[in-house]
Order: sequence, then C-alpha cells, then structure tokens
Amino acid sequence: MSKNDFRKGREEKGYYRYMHDRYIELLNSGEREEYSSELAGLPAIPDFEFADHHDFKSFLDYHGEVKGRTIYDYRKQAYSCLICRVCNSITCFRQTSARYGLVCPSGDRFRYDNYFGHGKLQMIRGFLDGELSHPYPPEGEPLRPLFEPTERFLHVVYTCTLCGGCESLCKIQKLLEPMHAAVALREYLVEQGIGPLPEHRVVLKNMENYDNPWGGARSARTRWLPRNRKVKVLGNGRERAEVLFYVGCTTAYVGFLKKVPLSIVDILQKADVDFGILGNSEICCGSTMLRLGDRRGFERFKSRNIEMFNSLGVETIVTGCAGCTSTFKEDYADELNCQIYHITEFLEKLLQEGKLRMKKEVPLRLTYHDPCHLGRYCGIYEEPRTLLKAIPGVKLVEMERIREDAYCCGAGGGVRTAFPDFSLWVARRRITEALETTGCNIVVTACPFCEQNLADAGNLEGVKVMDISEIVRLSIE
Ligand code: SF4
Ligand code: SF4
Repeated sequence: MSKNDFRKGREEKGYYRYMHDRYIELLNSGEREEYSSELAGLPAIPDFEFADHHDFKSFLDYHGEVKGRTIYDYRKQAYSCLICRVCNSITCFRQTSARYGLVCPSGDRFRYDNYFGHGKLQMIRGFLDGELSHPYPPEGEPLRPLFEPTERFLHVVYTCTLCGGCESLCKIQKLLEPMHAAVALREYLVEQGIGPLPEHRVVLKNMENYDNPWGGARSARTRWLPRNRKVKVLGNGRERAEVLFYVGCTTAYVGFLKKVPLSIVDILQKADVDFGILGNSEICCGSTMLRLGDRRGFERFKSRNIEMFNSLGVETIVTGCAGCTSTFKEDYADELNCQIYHITEFLEKLLQEGKLRMKKEVPLRLTYHDPCHLGRYCGIYEEPRTLLKAIPGVKLVEMERIREDAYCCGAGGGVRTAFPDFSLWVARRRITEALETTGCNIVVTACPFCEQNLADAGNLEGVKVMDISEIVRLSIE
C-alpha cells in the first residue's frame, strides 16, 4: 500500500471507516506486517497470533450494563475499572501519530491520572471506599463526605469537557461509562451543595431568570432575524407548520453566530420546507443545567419544552445546535411525539430526496471538526461529510482525530465558562491539528458552541471557522 493509496482511501471514506475496512481486509488477507509498518511508520513487526481474549458476553453477564444516574448506580462500574487507560488514547490501530494520540483534552493538558476518564470512576470509588467519604453507608442512606473539597478536586471535576472520548473507547472494550459517571459525580456535588463553581452558578441563575444561559432578554431572542424576513412563528395558536426549526440559545444571543440560523432559514425556504420557529416563546433545551449537574433544574426545562413541542402538532423538530440535538435525542426522546433531526441529518435527507439542489461551485479546501454532541453523543458522522462532498468545488481533507476519535473543541461541560484559558488551549490544539495534518485554513463544524470556541483559536492562528450551513447556503445561492 502506497502513501497515496492511504491518503486517497482516507479522503474517500473518511479516516475511521477507511482504517476499519483496511484493518479487516488485512486481517483476512494475512498482510499484517505491511499494515503495521506502513501505518505506524515503523519496521515490520513479527507475526502474532490473534486470540479472542475478551468474552464480552460473560463480562456483561457478570457486570451488567449500568445505565444509572447517581454515583450509587455507578458503583459496579467504579469497581470494574481496571485502570487499563484504554480510555486515554485513540486505539492503536487507528492512531497515526503520538502527537495527536490522546483523546482526552483535560488529561492532555494536565497530565495527571484523575483528569482522564478513569480518574472520574476512581474518584467515585474514593467516595464509596471511604477514602473521600465515610465508608459506604447502608442502602438508601446518603454518602457523607469526609473532606472539604480542595481547589484541585474541583479543578479535576470541572475541567472535564464531557466530550465522551473516554466513554466511546471504554464502552466498546470494557463496557464502562466514565463520562456518564462524571456527570453523576457533578450531580452528587450539586446535591451536597459543593458544586458547581461560582462561574457556573451565574449561568444557572441566568437560566432561571431569563430562560437562557447567556442572560439575554426573552424579548431579544429573535433579534437575529431581520424584520423584513417572513418566517412562521408557531406556538401562538395562529400558525402551523410541519417542521419546527428550534434555533437554540447560542445562535439566538451570540451576535456573530446569527449567520447560522439565517443560513438555515435561507436553505429551508429554498428547499420549500414548511417550517416555523417559536420566536420569543422559545426557551433553552436545558443542556447547560444537565451538564453542570443541576438535574432538578434540567427536569423543569424539559417538561416545559415537551409540553410546548407536543402541543404544536409538528412532525419534525430540526435544530442547528449539536448540544440541543443530543439533549432532545438522548434525554427527551421518550416523551416527544415527533422526530428530532440535526440540520445536517435533515439536509442530507432532502439531498437524497432531490429537494436540496447544491449547484453553485464553492471552491474551498476545508476540514471538518466533529462536534462531540453530534458525533459521539448521537452517532452523526456521515451526514455532514455527505453534504460537504456533494457541494461542487468543495475538497474535504480529514484531520487525524475524527469521528469517534475526534478531539473536543474545549468548550463543553461548562469549561469555557469556568476555565477560559484551558478552553482556549484545547481549541488551539485542535486548530493546530487542522493546520498540521491537513494544511487547510478553513475548519467547518456543525455546532455553534464549537464554532465560537474554535473561532477564538482560529483568529490567533489565521484559520477561518465556519458552520456547515454557511457552506451549504453558498452552494444554493
Ligand atoms: S475507564 Fe475503562 S478504559 Fe478507562 S481505565 Fe477504566 S476500564 Fe480502562
Ligand atoms: S469526557 Fe472527555 S474530557 Fe472528560 S474525562 Fe472523558 S475524555 Fe476526558
């Protein structure tokens, strides 16, 4: 296999799919020596026996699959963690360099065990063992912390971006959920009155007072939409539509991001989609509260939204935000009477149905950043790539860490709010990776929160960050 074949394969299929297919192909053909030397850039290794070391079925029977909410529910997982550190780095057969081998941003920056995924399980174990609390109490009784939480302890808990990199690696191999355990730990700290951090409390207050984390007035929610643009406003009982375009707080309130909903409106109108927005009645999806550990607050937003969505009679909800998408799909879905789509899924569907025609040449060489909430949380990897590849003139070049192995933008889990310097450090790592491994100076993403953080780093490195809807809009004008 030549370097050109490797590059071509990656570009055509995407890195993960290509490597996966190639790996299976090579295992079946017995060309393993060529595979290992070629991809790792190392001398060929001797042949080895491939044994099925893991009997997942008996592992699962023994440990069970925990889908818990509290640290008590993660007890089995905390004790099942082998500290094998599989959750720290991209699986070796998919890694192409040590420089971009780590998947965990907090571990990458702070280089101490607890900052990685397994550290979160070990901290829970610390509570249950009595290292950080009184020994495990009788069933039903609350844990009692022994300690005054130190600054370092809180730093470990709240520098996790909840990107899910650790979980996607551990879950398929060891069946554990370190990221969900990290959320459970945050919820425990909120219940104990220990968390979240003061910066987060301001955000939670904004949610209570203004129904959005940015503290923008309710009456300013539709300021992104020019007065002369006619868009149906649902929820007032007068107008109805098949599709609700849920705008989301970030693009509604962060000025430079208003181009995202405006692009989406343009595209949906060009494709003759019968849609409407909620206007000033739209409220936050509650994701911020969920990630900060305020589950009670989240449940309040969830029930208000579900009541409103179900009363509209819409068949479909489309959103341009990866965070809203994952919250609706993962945390609302059972109680909603309609389908949830991220805009990339919806547009890809329109493309397949021949309703979205992207004819205009857009001569751009670009790379795509998988948002964690779209990729790892919802499994949406292919649709954005299909859209980009369908645009005439667009040349998509993949970075090293993509799809399940994508490196976080650094903004999630309340990290941008409380640790802006660390958040920017992560974004710069990602932008540098784009520059070094693709040579592209345009990074496209499909989440406004990622765009905001990456743009801060992009401005420092001379890289332009764009939303995928902007690129699609260019091709239909
Ligand atoms: S969380 Fe999973 S992958 Fe990470 S050390 Fe524990 S068992 Fe290994
Ligand atoms: S969720 Fe992301 S930041 Fe948090 S421990 Fe796992 S990999 Fe690291």
